[in-house]
Amino acid sequence: MPVRDVKPGRHASPDYGGELVVHADVAIVGAGAGGCAAAAAMAEKGLTVALFEEGRHWRPSEFRQGSAFALKHLYQDRGMRSMRGNVLMALPGGRGVGGSTLINSAICFRCPDEILDQWREQHGCSTVTRERFGAYFDRIWETIGVTVQSAEVQRLNNIVFKEGAERLGLQGSFMARSAPGCVGCGICQYGCPTGGKASIDRTFLVEALATGTVGVYADCRIREARTRAGRVTELAGQILHPETQAVLGTVTVRADTFLLSAGPIGTPSFLLSNRLVDDDHCGRHLVVHPTVGALARMPFEVRPWHGVTQGYYVDMWEQGYLLQTYTVTPDQYFALMPTPVGEETMRWMADLRHLASAGALVHDEDSEGRVQITPLGPDISYHLGEGDKRRLIEGLRKTGEVFFAAGATAFLPFRIGGGVVHRPDDIADHLSLDLPATDLQLYASHPMGTCRMSGRAEDGVVDPEGRVWGWDNLRVADASVFPSSLGVNPQVTTMAMGLLVGERIAG
Ligand SMILES: Cc1cc2nc3c(=O)[nH]c(=O)nc-3n(C[C@H](O)[C@H](O)[C@H](O)COP(=O)(O)OP(=O)(O)OC[C@H]3O[C@@H](n4cnc5c(N)ncnc54)[C@H](O)[C@@H]3O)c2cc1C
Ligand code: SF4
Repeated sequence: MPVRDVKPGRHASPDYGGELVVHADVAIVGAGAGGCAAAAAMAEKGLTVALFEEGRHWRPSEFRQGSAFALKHLYQDRGMRSMRGNVLMALPGGRGVGGSTLINSAICFRCPDEILDQWREQHGCSTVTRERFGAYFDRIWETIGVTVQSAEVQRLNNIVFKEGAERLGLQGSFMARSAPGCVGCGICQYGCPTGGKASIDRTFLVEALATGTVGVYADCRIREARTRAGRVTELAGQILHPETQAVLGTVTVRADTFLLSAGPIGTPSFLLSNRLVDDDHCGRHLVVHPTVGALARMPFEVRPWHGVTQGYYVDMWEQGYLLQTYTVTPDQYFALMPTPVGEETMRWMADLRHLASAGALVHDEDSEGRVQITPLGPDISYHLGEGDKRRLIEGLRKTGEVFFAAGATAFLPFRIGGGVVHRPDDIADHLSLDLPATDLQLYASHPMGTCRMSGRAEDGVVDPEGRVWGWDNLRVADASVFPSSLGVNPQVTTMAMGLLVGERIAG
C-alpha cells in the first residue's frame, strides 16, 4: 500500500479501506486535552499533523443521555477502570476525539504559581515559568470560552452549597468553566448534548483543522513503535469498528516526530510495552486528586439532577483540599450510595429531590500510584497516604458543616456503612480522623505524573521540552508529564503543556 500524505479533515473507519498508511511531519497518539492543544500549536506554524484517536469523533447531537451509552462509547474500559492498593478507587477516563474533555465537568483553574515554581526549582523544568504559562492560560481562557454561569443556570444544588459556605464565612465562588453555552442540564459526564461545553474537539482542534494541515483519524488504536538507530521511524496499530471495537484493519504512520498524548495511563503503557524506556520513573509517581463525596437532605426541594454539573467550590487550598459540588443522574446516585442495598438506600433514593451533593478533593501529598503493564492491559495501583486520608476526612467534615449551615436535616458522607449524621455536633465523632482508609468510598478522575518532566534524565521520563529522554524524535504532551499533582482540576494545565510541547516541536 503506498504511503499517503496526511489528508486534512475528519476521518473515520469507513474511509480507511482496511489498510491505512499515512505520512506527516508529526504524528500524535491520542486526541485529548494535550494532543489537540499541541496539534493547534504545530498547525499554526505550518506543520502537517496526523492525529490518531482510538475512540470516535462525535457531534454533540449524537450523544445519548444515558449511562449505558456513555460508558460504552465515551469511557476507557467502559467506565470500569479502577486502582487497587490499600484502597479501591474508580479512575474513569475519556475516550474519543476530545479525550476526557468530552466527559469532564468543564471546570477551569490555572495551575497555582507555587506548583509551577516547584516544578521549575525542584524538578529542573526550565521551560515552566510563570510568565510563559500565564500567557498560555490567557490564550486557553479565550479559546475555550471560559465563563461563569448565572445563578439561574447553576440551580439549587450549587446555590445551597454557596449559601452554607457564605454563612460559615468560607472563601468560595461559582467556578469558571469552559462551557459558554451551558444550559445546566447536569449531565456533562455523558457528553454535552447541547454543544454548550467547549470540549477541546470543539475549540483547539477546530482551530487546528482550519489551517488545512491537520488530519484527525478516529477509530485508530496505536499499539506499536518501530525504531532504527535511536529514532522512532513509524507507529502501527489497528482500525477499530466504532460500535463493536472489532479490529477492521491496520494503520501505519511515518513521521519526522511522534507525540504521545494518550493520557497518564495510555502513554506510560505505550512506552513500557514497546520497551522504549525503563520503568525507573515511567508508570510511577501516579497522582490522582483522590475525592470523596457526600449527600445532604434539605428541608426543601433541590432537584440535584438539574443545574451545572459542578458549579461551586470552596477554596481550602491552604489546608490541602478543595470542596466542590457535583451532580450525577439518578441511576448514578443509586449506584454510588454508601448505604447497604435495601430499605435505607431506597429511603434516600425516594427523597432524591430533596438531596444536595458535594465532595472534597485533595492534593496528593503522601499518596502515590503506579501503572504497570500486563498482557491484559494496564494494571493500576495506588496507595493512599495517612496525611491525604486525614485531609479527605477533614474535607468531608467541612462539607457536612457547610450543608448543616445551609439548613440540612441529615448528612450522609460516603463512609461505607457509616450511617447518617443528624446534627453538626456529631460530625467529628462520626468522621474520626483515625478511620481506616478502606472506610471511605473514593473516586478520582485526574490521573497525572506517570511520565514526569525533569531536567535530569535520571529523575524523569521527558525533558523540559517534552522529549522522551534518550529519543530525539519522540515526545509526550499530556497530564502524565506533570511532576506532581496540582491541587486544582487539571485540564487547563494539560492544554498548556500541549501548547508548550507543540511550540517546541515546531521550533
Ligand atoms: C469524568 C471526568 C471529569 C473531569 N472533570 C474535569 C473538570 O471539570 N476540569 C478539569 O480541569 N479536569 C477535569 N477532568 C480531567 C481532565 O479532563 C483531564 O485531566 C485531561 O483531559 C487530561 O488530558 P490528557 O491529554 O492527558 O488525556 P485525555 O484527555 O484523557 O486524552 C487521551 C486520549 O488518548 C486516547 N488514547 C489512549 N490510548 C490510545 C492509543 N493507544 N491510540 C489512540 N488513542 C489513544 C484516549 O482514547 C483519549 O481520547 C475530568 C476527567 C474525567 C474523566
Ligand atoms: S451542564 Fe449540560 S449543557 Fe452544561 S456543559 Fe454540562 S452537559 Fe453541557
